[in-house]
Amino acid sequence: MKTITLLGATGSIGASTLDLVARNPDRFRVHAVASGRDWAKLAEIARACSAQVAVIADEDRLPELAEALAGTGTQVRAGSTAMVETAAEPVDLVVAAIVGAAGLAPTLAAIEAGTTVALANKEALICAGDLMTAAAARSGARILPIDSEHNAIFQVLEDVGRISRIVLTASGGPFRGLSREDMARVTPAEAVRHPNWSMGAKISVDSATLMNKGLELIEAHHLFGVGPDRLGVLVHPQSLVHGLVEYVDGSVLAQLGPADMRVPIAHALAWPERIETPVNRLCLATAGKLEFEEPDRARFPALALAEAALAAGGCRPCVLSAANEVAVGAFLEGRIGFLDIAAVVSDTLSALAVAPVTTLEEVAAADAVAREVARSFVAHRAAR
Ligand code: NAD
Ligand code: MG
Repeated sequence: MKTITLLGATGSIGASTLDLVARNPDRFRVHAVASGRDWAKLAEIARACSAQVAVIADEDRLPELAEALAGTGTQVRAGSTAMVETAAEPVDLVVAAIVGAAGLAPTLAAIEAGTTVALANKEALICAGDLMTAAAARSGARILPIDSEHNAIFQVLEDVGRISRIVLTASGGPFRGLSREDMARVTPAEAVRHPNWSMGAKISVDSATLMNKGLELIEAHHLFGVGPDRLGVLVHPQSLVHGLVEYVDGSVLAQLGPADMRVPIAHALAWPERIETPVNRLCLATAGKLEFEEPDRARFPALALAEAALAAGGCRPCVLSAANEVAVGAFLEGRIGFLDIAAVVSDTLSALAVAPVTTLEEVAAADAVAREVARSFVAHRAAR
């Protein structure tokens, strides 16, 4: 029996995780569930999985959460300190599925406590990758990737010393064939309608700009300890091949599967074992043509911005990710256009100097400055 704490329980990854947990009551037991502000959904989840603890980030929502869970035996908590303390409580696995840098402190707390972390929350690793991998080395915590491409690579990775290249595939998103002129007019509703995957709003927009793939290169660098010269991206619109590892002898190992996040989540939950999932099976005979092409960095400049941030290191990935969170938020609110997202990120990177980040405080400071600068660029563009 594995005990699990699920951070980001009310989100898309949270729902897929809870589905697998519910199907395997003999294998998994939920210790704690946590979310941002949706107290009603969190209470419903806590009841359904008989969680011992429910934590809500927004302290103002605690009375409603407490009332909704009265008499159930589930302990309720609120606020960022409670979130971090809960993440550090001993369990077999913490599923880190909060969106954005908000997930950094609790994820790091779980790693520092020596707990195995199944990581979906890529932004945490992107803004503080060196801190997180150093903490994992100290505590002995393992980080198991949930992100489909990284989980794919984890499944086929034999010997990091003998690989020549890691390739992440990208669907290309909903605007793969669009001109820049057409992209200037796309709406938030069109941007979140991903052709292959059903995901939260932020990552769906990131997939549409290709920023997601750029963030994933940085994620792969930290997870697998591989430099940018051995990391590549290939657009594969069918999203059936999730990641490839080329070895020095010319062999290429790839992982394939249906585009359903329950496959990589099941792998991380059960590792080193495997469990059954209810997903549709991949049938190559009827899958049609599998296509692969180079990404177009001119039409999707976010990818090149992320590649440059990875190469520069220090605070750059954190600045990139924080500015992107602000810009995507503004786009979803209808304040700026789709092409403004990468422009705001680029302007923010240009406005700030490269600096090293070696402590959590320095990461928090870089994140805060980047958000402030990005907000001013958003305001400037929104006023045009
Ligand atoms: P989502 O928007 O559906 O859910 C986000 C979750 O984070 C919610 O439970 C929300 O309550 C919680 N949250 C937000 N702010 C919080 C805060 N301050 N404190 C505590 N909780 C907070 O997002 P998602 O699609 O489930 O993605 C979650 C993470 O997983 C992201 O980092 C994303 O990049 C990554 N990921 C998602 C997918 C996918 O298929 N959805 C695939 C790969 C990676
Ligand atoms: Mg991914």
